Amino acid sequence: MQYQSTRGKSNRVTSAEAIAHGLAKDGGLFVPESFPFVSIETISRLVSEPYDKRAAYILSLFMDDYSSEELGRYTSEAYNADSVSGFSSIDIAPIYKIGNKTHFLELWHGPTCAFKDMALQIMPNLLTASLRKIGEKRDVCILVATSGDTGKAALEGFSDVPGTKIMVFYPRDGVSDVQQLQMTSQGGDNVNVVAVYGNFDDAQTGVKAIFSNEELRIRLDKEGVFLSSANSINWGRLVPQIVYYFSAYCDLLKSNEIRPGEKVNFCVPTGNFGNILAAYYAERMGLPVNKLICASNRNDVLTQFISTGVYDKNRPFYTTVSPSMDILVSSNLERLLFELSGKDGCAVTSYMSALLSAGFYSVPGIVRNELERVFASGDCSEEDTLKTIRDTYNLHNYLIDTHTAVAYKVLKEYKEKTKDDTTSIVVSTASPFKFCEAVLEAIKQPYTESGVLLIDALSEATGCAVPDPLLELKIKTPRFNETVEISGMKAAVLDFIRGR
Ligand SMILES: *Cc1c(COP(=O)(O)O)cnc(C)c1O
Repeated sequence: MQYQSTRGKSNRVTSAEAIAHGLAKDGGLFVPESFPFVSIETISRLVSEPYDKRAAYILSLFMDDYSSEELGRYTSEAYNADSVSGFSSIDIAPIYKIGNKTHFLELWHGPTCAFKDMALQIMPNLLTASLRKIGEKRDVCILVATSGDTGKAALEGFSDVPGTKIMVFYPRDGVSDVQQLQMTSQGGDNVNVVAVYGNFDDAQTGVKAIFSNEELRIRLDKEGVFLSSANSINWGRLVPQIVYYFSAYCDLLKSNEIRPGEKVNFCVPTGNFGNILAAYYAERMGLPVNKLICASNRNDVLTQFISTGVYDKNRPFYTTVSPSMDILVSSNLERLLFELSGKDGCAVTSYMSALLSAGFYSVPGIVRNELERVFASGDCSEEDTLKTIRDTYNLHNYLIDTHTAVAYKVLKEYKEKTKDDTTSIVVSTASPFKFCEAVLEAIKQPYTESGVLLIDALSEATGCAVPDPLLELKIKTPRFNETVEISGMKAAVLDFIRGR
């Protein structure tokens, strides 16, 4: 399988090259040149396999430059529940049924309690292998801009991995207390965590500017270092995310909730469009999907795009109780545009340059038709987010986090509006214990503690067990406390690489 750039001006590369470089030379994102087909018979065969075997199969379809022995080893190392740093559920990505035809796909049983672990537990292995395959001798420095969850998951994945360094930038006032301390208390000799004055989009723009800085590239090369990304623009982040859509379907078959070939809906709380894009790829590979429902919080730029065909980032940026979705520039939408426009790199280039210069673009009817074939969308206010957590807890005794609540609310509204009663899966992206303050407020439990001490308060209020990786957090102290301006990010990277 070869990979091409969404902007159409770079040479085709192998999956190892796509993962090693992160971004194509023409500024585009790497996409597979075609989608391998997975038949219903194959899906039915995967039903009896554990998660890691399902993963090895799906990955092998896209990564034929990795041997099946290699992929088997990486997937079984990443997706296991028998080590302290592994997953807390033997099912890895279990499904929880809540009433008729509605299920939650829990993607937060990994070591950092958010769905980013699904990819970032395996990506360091994929990346270091890809460097060997392409004969890269330099060390790689991974730069990450995070809205909260990617940062910790990437730090956990790359901590003390030989030949790598990792540097994470997060918005100073844009993450929860638990998310912040998870990152700033990270161990490992090759890690660095820096807050920035600005929001996630500012941090992401800053990181992208560093990647495309030619002068910096030459300077780092002299230090024996090159830059790569662990954000979902990297193919190595996306491909492992396709797996859990197939796996969820297998699990529903296994429990007789659906018949082979029956279509399902997925409703995905969306920010950078990586998670739902993986669902779209699964659909293109033959997974029986009726609708992919894109759920936004108050930052509803994607919902607007899906319902009008106009992407317009000229709007206020809101800080919400679902901070991992506080994003106005969704990087992975570029990959969807590429598919929707019939792999037209010139069209994608013009959308992206309009976005850069004017802050908006609109797509023609033919693109909108394909968009509407698969996607539906909806948004959720702050008030409704909290109300959904409260109602779900009271009605079903099931505690969900703020992001998952956004999706559940959007699904319920979609079902009311369309009368579509297809079996539906809400993609549950984080443990409620990462967002204690909002969740406690939602279920109207009075509390006196603050910060990470709320973890215990939430557990006492609900009787729900604290996930193991968060138990230790309250006795941890921050190792990193630096904050830089966006304009100071480049210098911070250089200092880190030179060991200052
Ligand atoms: C990252 C994240 C999202 C958004 O996922 P995208 O792939 O960026 O669309 C949603 N919920 C949680 C908890 C997240 O960490």
